[in-house]
Amino acid sequence: MARINDNFLKLPGSYLFSEIQKRTGAFLAKNPGAELLYLGVGDVSEPLPPTVIRALRDAVDEMGTKQGFHGYGPEYGYPFLLDAISENEYRALGIDIGSDEIVICDGAKSDAGNIQEIFSADSVIAVTDPVYPVYVDSNVMAGRTGVFSGGRWSELIYLPMVRENDYTPQLPEKRPDLIYLCSPNNPTGAAMKKRDLKIWVDYALENDAVILYDAAYKAFISSDACHSIYEVEGARRCAIEFGSFSKTAGFTGTRCSWTVVPKDILGKDASGDAVPLLDLWRRRQATKFNGTPYIVQKAAMAIYTEQGKNEVKALVSHYMANARRIRETMDALGVRCSGGVDAPYIWFPVPGGNSWAFFDRLLGECQVVGTPGAGFGPSGEGYFRLTAFGTPEATREACARIQKVL
Ligand code: PLP
Repeated sequence: MARINDNFLKLPGSYLFSEIQKRTGAFLAKNPGAELLYLGVGDVSEPLPPTVIRALRDAVDEMGTKQGFHGYGPEYGYPFLLDAISENEYRALGIDIGSDEIVICDGAKSDAGNIQEIFSADSVIAVTDPVYPVYVDSNVMAGRTGVFSGGRWSELIYLPMVRENDYTPQLPEKRPDLIYLCSPNNPTGAAMKKRDLKIWVDYALENDAVILYDAAYKAFISSDACHSIYEVEGARRCAIEFGSFSKTAGFTGTRCSWTVVPKDILGKDASGDAVPLLDLWRRRQATKFNGTPYIVQKAAMAIYTEQGKNEVKALVSHYMANARRIRETMDALGVRCSGGVDAPYIWFPVPGGNSWAFFDRLLGECQVVGTPGAGFGPSGEGYFRLTAFGTPEATREACARIQKVL
């Protein structure tokens, strides 16, 4: 038998969503016909915008012709999409990110999960807590996190984001090599302002650390929070940024994302010589990934047309109207929540402090399914996440039930 990577055995199962399914299934078995409302998962409910569908159809037609057929594409993405991202996501904000500093991929999950491969096996990792689990699990698989005990990894640096610090991570006592930040944040919904991000950029520059910045939800920002870490001076020398079309334009099942690795950001090899991280990331992708489909990149580019922009704006407003409704419901109940302004997530402390007990209560008394905070890390216990990605009807009904019962 082949020897396996034992680190995979350290992963504590996919406890969160399987446990949610188990509890929901048991409830339905006891209450057949109960109409459950799902405000738990982070998937979208609206179809792809019409402009995207048109671009997809056109690209499919092209692929059926001799002249328009595309086989393997350019390794880092088609220039039309790279240019559109550089122009619309960065240069339009006055940020200097060139097309040749962007690499197209099939999802921010892949990018955020794979990026750790270009760093040394003994890198020290810091994550915000609660956290999008991919950052942690990908480092568990790589053997960087030590032993899992009492819900914590022994070698991971946790940066708590709780009500007491306004869901803003504080600088760690011990120096990490890699720092994962996500803003707007899943699950807390909080978004970092320039002054908060500057603290991290300055820290990373002073401590020779790299920030891995997940901006998958930036399209939902309505406050003056940063849309990109490169709004902060110096970030080009210490930060890698991930972007995604999933939540912005309904690409969760279509799959397209990008990663920015500025030319200025360097790592060092075993002899201490500087190496551009962009070269490593490009090499990694060229070796292990053969590109996002042409038709998908064409579809993604369509969101940067005038009509595409309007449709995406409408999509974001659609979900944020749900978010507003959930927030207003919580406000009316006197629950102080975060999120729902710059992100489609609403995060709040639960009465009694036990997130699974609150899950059961919401399921039993309101037939509403949410996500217990305990599933996002040790500091998530005591909190709960509702998402704005449901339909307006389900969201309205869920809010009415919650208001009536709680
Ligand atoms: N990053 C964060 C913070 C997320 O919450 C998610 C999905 O829920 C992703 C990345 C994954 O995005 P994608 O669909 O582009 O893989």
